[in-house]
Amino acid sequence: MSYRLYIPGPITVSDDTFAAMNRGMIGHRSKDFVSLYESLQPGLKRLMGTQDPVYLSTSSSWGMMEAAVRNTVAKGVLCCMNGAFSDKWLDVAKKCGKEAAGLQFDWGKPVDPAAVERELATGKYDAITFIHSETSTGTLSPIADIMAVVRKFPEVISIVDTVSSLSTVELNKDALGIDVLISGSQKALCLPPGLSVCSVSERARARAATIPNRGYYFDFLEFQANHEKGMTPSTPCISLIYGLEHILKKIDAEGLPARFERHRRLNAKVRDWAFAKGFKLFPEEKFGTLGLNCFANNLNLDLEAFNKVLKSKHKLVIDGGYGKLKGKTFRISNMGDETDASIDALIAALDATYAEVAAKPAA
Ligand SMILES: *Cc1c(COP(=O)(O)O)cnc(C)c1O
Repeated sequence: MSYRLYIPGPITVSDDTFAAMNRGMIGHRSKDFVSLYESLQPGLKRLMGTQDPVYLSTSSSWGMMEAAVRNTVAKGVLCCMNGAFSDKWLDVAKKCGKEAAGLQFDWGKPVDPAAVERELATGKYDAITFIHSETSTGTLSPIADIMAVVRKFPEVISIVDTVSSLSTVELNKDALGIDVLISGSQKALCLPPGLSVCSVSERARARAATIPNRGYYFDFLEFQANHEKGMTPSTPCISLIYGLEHILKKIDAEGLPARFERHRRLNAKVRDWAFAKGFKLFPEEKFGTLGLNCFANNLNLDLEAFNKVLKSKHKLVIDGGYGKLKGKTFRISNMGDETDASIDALIAALDATYAEVAAKPAA
């Protein structure tokens, strides 16, 4: 049973990445591990546009998303919400016992900097969370404009999720003044799930030092103390770290501008296919994210039947809508290692499946 996954995470991992991961274990306190860990820092920093340390967490992204809140919120956190993942961050913050308020935007709309400014001006918050690319709705928020607002409030620690945008579009963490930038392995980075990468500013670490009950596993100060020795606090997912080393080498060989251009081009190919059929993008086109597309199912395609045929006949899987958007939208990833050839093959399969399924009225 093997399918090519075009759901927006986890995505298909290439054979060369699996081969790179298939190496013997090393002690996580050994010199070999320290050189591996340290060798990854320059590539990760370039990807994020930062000079700050990048921690490796053996957890999915939610681990670091929760960590960011636990480590930095003393007064209150404003959670910008415009989709399933960003909405959930408010619940997570509350479950961590933090004062938290949501700033809700309609699903498919980007985070509005003016609304952020009005809310932060209340003085109730010392941290803010938002998601750069809200994967559930395929929406890319205007990160530079949002951060220009956040920077006006020096007390506010900024926490940004880039799980489906890191390596698909340019990110400049330091220039934008982002304190905590989080991503995960199984989406844009094209690795199996289980590893999160997180860069934390000195400001955020200074805040953490004042916060009680940070716990152990996700304590930024534990991460920092170990980072300074080229290590992680506990035994990490070493195989995934081998994979990350491989991916960073691939990114380096391709070059970041070429990688961004590839994602833009492949994203447009998929959009053009759907537009030609008469589908609309779910968010406004200019806010569509570039590592995937979320389309409105405005033609009432039977998505379950569509995916069934796509999977059984073509061994491909797309997503039939996340959470409350199930059946109303569909999402197609072009993250990671996709090429013109692989996306052309996907489109041919989408076309054949569409001809078969759209011909029948929805049950
Ligand atoms: C997938 C995703 C997450 C959650 O990632 P996990 O790996 O399941 O913890 C968080 N944020 C965004 C934007 C995502 O796409």
